[in-house]
Amino acid sequence: GFGAIADLVRLHAQHTPGHAALADAQQALNYGALDALMDRVAASLQRDGLQPGDAIAVCAASSVNYAAVFLGALRAGVAVAPLAPGSTPASLARMIEDADARILFTDASAAEVVGPVKEGGIPRVALDGSAAGQGLERWLAPAGTQPRAVEAQPSWPFNIIYSSGTTGEPKGIVQGHGMRWAHVQRGAKYGYGPDTVTLLSTPLYSNTTLVVFFPTLAFGGCVVLMPKFDALGYLQLAQQRRVTHTMLVPVQYQRLMAHPRFDAHDLSSFRFKFSTSAPFSAALKADVLKRWPGGLIEFYGMTEGGGTCILEAHLHPNKLHTVGCPAEGSDIRLIDEDGNEIPRGNIELAGEVVGHSAGMMTGYHRQPDKTREAEWFDATGKRFIRTGDVGRFDADGFLTLFDRKKDMIISGGFNIYPSDLEAVLRGHAAVADVAVIGVPSEQWGETPVAFVVRREGDGTAADALLRWANAQLGKTQRLARLSFIDELPRSAIGKVLKRELRELAGR
Ligand code: ATP
Ligand code: MG
Repeated sequence: GFGAIADLVRLHAQHTPGHAALADAQQALNYGALDALMDRVAASLQRDGLQPGDAIAVCAASSVNYAAVFLGALRAGVAVAPLAPGSTPASLARMIEDADARILFTDASAAEVVGPVKEGGIPRVALDGSAAGQGLERWLAPAGTQPRAVEAQPSWPFNIIYSSGTTGEPKGIVQGHGMRWAHVQRGAKYGYGPDTVTLLSTPLYSNTTLVVFFPTLAFGGCVVLMPKFDALGYLQLAQQRRVTHTMLVPVQYQRLMAHPRFDAHDLSSFRFKFSTSAPFSAALKADVLKRWPGGLIEFYGMTEGGGTCILEAHLHPNKLHTVGCPAEGSDIRLIDEDGNEIPRGNIELAGEVVGHSAGMMTGYHRQPDKTREAEWFDATGKRFIRTGDVGRFDADGFLTLFDRKKDMIISGGFNIYPSDLEAVLRGHAAVADVAVIGVPSEQWGETPVAFVVRREGDGTAADALLRWANAQLGKTQRLARLSFIDELPRSAIGKVLKRELRELAGR
C-alpha cells in the first residue's frame, strides 16, 4: 500500500508526541510540536491560495524550520522545489520560474544569491528571523489553525529537484509521492525506528539527503541537521547525540577518516552509515569498515530515479570496488554506443548504464527534448533512463562503475577511463586527491592530464610523480601532464567538477 509521509508524522504525534523529531543547533521539535507546525504551514499555504500540485521554493541552509515547512507543504499537497544557495542569481531565477513557485522561503545564508533575484515578485518568507523576507511567525496562521484535509496520491509531485548540474545546466526532476514512499519501504531493512538518530550534514536540497531524511521521520526517528559540515564538529555531534544513522558523501568520509581526532571519538552508537553521489574508493570504504562501527551502505543512482544499485559493504568486503547489485524493483542494463543492449551474460563488456524502477521520473520538467535524450527502451518497450555512466557487471552481478561517458578520454582510438589512472595515482603516498581529465591533442585527438592535491608536507616533484605513474600505465594510457592544485573544484555535494578542470587546463 501507499502511505503519505505527512500522515505518518501525524501518527507518531498521536502516539509519541513528546518524542524528538527534528533538531539543529538552535532549535528542537518533538513530534507533537512538528505536527502542529506542519498544520499551520499547510493552513497558511491554503490561505494564500495554493492548491495541491502547486509549488513553493526554498533556498536556505538546512534547519528545523526548513524541514517543517517542507513537511507542512506536503500536508497541503503542495510540492517543494528545494534550491541550492550556492547557485548564481540567474540560475536561481530560472529555477523559480521553471518550477512556477508561488512563495520563496529563504534565510540570511542565501542572501547573496536571493538578494539580486527579482523573480516575478513572489512573496518571500524568512525562515530564520532575518531580513530575508516576512518573518515565518508572522506569515504562519495562528497556532491551532487546521488545514483542509488533503489526501496525497502516489502520482502527485512531492518535490522538484534540480539535478546537481555536475555535467551542465541543472534540469528539473519531478519526484512523486510514490517514489518517496518507495524509499521509505526500502528503509525498513536498515533498522530505522523510534530510537533512530540520523545526523545529516549534506544539504536538504539534494536527493542524497532526502533519501535518508524522509525514512527517518516516517519511522518515528529523530533527524539532527548540521547546516555546514566540518569534520571535528561532525564527530563531536555524532558522539554527543549518540547518532545511529547518517548519510555522507565520499569526500566527507575522506575528511573524517583523515582527521587526527577521529579515533578519539566514541562512535559505538552507529548502526548504518550511507553514502552516494560520487565515486567512493575501495581503500576508503575498507578504512571506514575497519575504524567506524556499524554497517556501511552505498547507493548508486540518480535523482531521475531509474534504478538503484546497493552495496552492503560490511557484508561484501571483497566487492568494495563495486557499487553493488540492483535494488529490489530496479532493473539495470548496459547498452553499447549504438544503443544496443549488451547481453546480460557478457561480463567482459562495459557499457552505458540504463535503469528502470517504479519510481523513476516521467521526464525533465518542461524539457521534452532532454527527456527523450535520456530515455532508452528495451525490445519489449520497457522504459529506462540513461545514466551517462559507464559500468560493467561481474559474474556475481555486482556493478563496477568506470566514469561518466562525458569524462571518458578517447586517445588515438583507445578508450581511456580516467578512474583507472586516478586509481594508480592514489597508490602513491604523496597523493591526497586526484582527478584526471582529457585535453585536446593534435596527435591523439585527446590526451590525459592529471591534477593532484599533494599530501601536506610532502615534497615530491610533479615530474617525478608523472614518471612514477607512467611507468605503471599502459602505453596508450600515459599521462601527458601532471600539475599540483591546492584543492579540486567540487560541487556543494562534493562531486569533482571536471568541466572546471578542463577549463583550467585549456587556459
Ligand atoms: P547532472 O546530471 O546535472 O550532470 P548529476 O548527474 O551529478 O548532475 P545527480 O542526480 O545528483 O546529478 O547524480 C547522479 C550521478 O552521480 C550518477 O549518474 C553518477 O555519475 C554519480 N553517482 C551516484 N552515486 C554514485 C556512486 N555510488 N558511485 C559513483 N558515482 C555515483
Ligand atoms: Mg545526471
